[in-house]
Amino acid sequence: MTAFTSSLLRRVTAMLISASYLLLGGITTAHAQQDNLQRSNSEPISYCVDPNWMPYEAIRDGKHTGLSADYMALISAQSGLTFKLIPTRSWQQSLRFLEERRCQFTPMLNKTDKREKYLTFSNVYFRSPNVLVSQREQPFLQGFENIGQRIVAIPTEYRLMEYVREYHPNTNVLPVRNEHEGLIAVAEGDADLFIGSLYSVNAYIQRQKLNNLKISGWMRPEDELRMAVSTGSEHLLPTINAALAQIDEEQHLQIFQRWNNISVIDDTNHELIWQLGFAALAVILLLTWWSCMSYRYNRKLSASNSQLEQLREKLEQTVDKLEFLSQHDPLTTLHNRSFLQQMMVRHNSDQREHAHDSDTSLIIIDIDFFKRINDTFGHSAGDKVLIEFAQLLQEQTRESDILARWGGEEFVIVCAHSNAADARKLCERINNALQEYKFSYQPQLTCSFGIAQVQPGEPIESCFDRADKALYQAKKSGRNRICSAEDD
Ligand code: GH3
Ligand code: MG
Ligand code: MG
Repeated sequence: MTAFTSSLLRRVTAMLISASYLLLGGITTAHAQQDNLQRSNSEPISYCVDPNWMPYEAIRDGKHTGLSADYMALISAQSGLTFKLIPTRSWQQSLRFLEERRCQFTPMLNKTDKREKYLTFSNVYFRSPNVLVSQREQPFLQGFENIGQRIVAIPTEYRLMEYVREYHPNTNVLPVRNEHEGLIAVAEGDADLFIGSLYSVNAYIQRQKLNNLKISGWMRPEDELRMAVSTGSEHLLPTINAALAQIDEEQHLQIFQRWNNISVIDDTNHELIWQLGFAALAVILLLTWWSCMSYRYNRKLSASNSQLEQLREKLEQTVDKLEFLSQHDPLTTLHNRSFLQQMMVRHNSDQREHAHDSDTSLIIIDIDFFKRINDTFGHSAGDKVLIEFAQLLQEQTRESDILARWGGEEFVIVCAHSNAADARKLCERINNALQEYKFSYQPQLTCSFGIAQVQPGEPIESCFDRADKALYQAKKSGRNRICSAEDD
């Protein structure tokens, strides 16, 4: 064997030895890991979660639920690890338990410097944006630079709190216990803004019907969620990371879709719109009903009004008719005895009030032998003759004369501004007309006239009596003549 050959052999042997060492070492590490896992498999790993951070994770009826529960189920299935939930009342308590190693594991949180002191983190397996939430009236904001002096609610012990304290120490922070409390603070006006994770914020707003809230901007940093183990349980991490790496896109998507029925938080307040719509509809219906009722009422009213108007007109006509009938003779339509008597009363009082300043005369006319017409041609023939006689008298008298039928075939004329001589002239005019007039049934008629002039201070009734006496005189002295009381 040459020196070269022996040196090569030595080298190969050395390499084989070191390779076997490496191989043995590797086998030993794998064995140790397997041992650890077996120990883990036999003893469930204690873990804590945020009890109130849906859809990421929560404790409901003592059970772990949400995105992180689904991820843990996958990890369990792939690695054989088993877990046991240690229930807590708050995220702050969960962190304390992890720090005190009462929990070995937590499935979903951000890495921070503070947490790294007692936790070891897996790789990031879920990312989600953070958002700013405000009341609807607030303008849209983007980033911490635009927050100004507004009060921002942030849950204590959340990664955001650490972030704000470190990078934006001048921010006006209102510490709250959890996201729910922060959102209520904004809804009730105790804080201007809340910063939280998009998916959980959306879930709260929808579930609690906080309709006066809106997402008013995106916010850095985004959540980079990992699993973490507490001090002393670091040996679990490679298995957890390996199991996380096994989760494919399809499985990520399924979990995401299962827990994020995210619907866009609409700016429109549908409830308010419905309420306003109903109110408007109610007002429209009320107005329509009101206008229908008023229309019907107005129609009825105008119908009643026109009926009333017709009645009023009828009444007026009836009153006029009654007034006419009360003052006129129905056969001849001349004034009647009642009217003449009223006129006489008025004349007397006028005469008393004013000095007798003008003459008044009375004429009483009686048709001669009128009874014969009735007897010969019948009563209606007599009526017709009376009507014709009245017309003749009307034609011969002036407007200032008052012509009336005193009764039967007797007529009276009150002649204003006339003395006995004037009255006689009127009687003669009537006589002349009579002679020319051709009456029905009996062509010629004659009359007897009695005249009297009202004397100063004399009641007209007394003058009437004197005129009547004069008429009697005319009859007595043969009819068809004019007698005046003033001739005596
Ligand atoms: P004298 O010349 O004396 O006046 O005779 P006379 O017949 O005219 O008088 P008398 O007093 O005897 O008769 C009047 C008649 O007039 C009697 C009556 O029947 C009639 N008479 C009265 N009123 C009416 C009437 O309205 N219509 C008719 N047709 N006749 C009437
Ligand atoms: Mg007579
Ligand atoms: Mg007569």
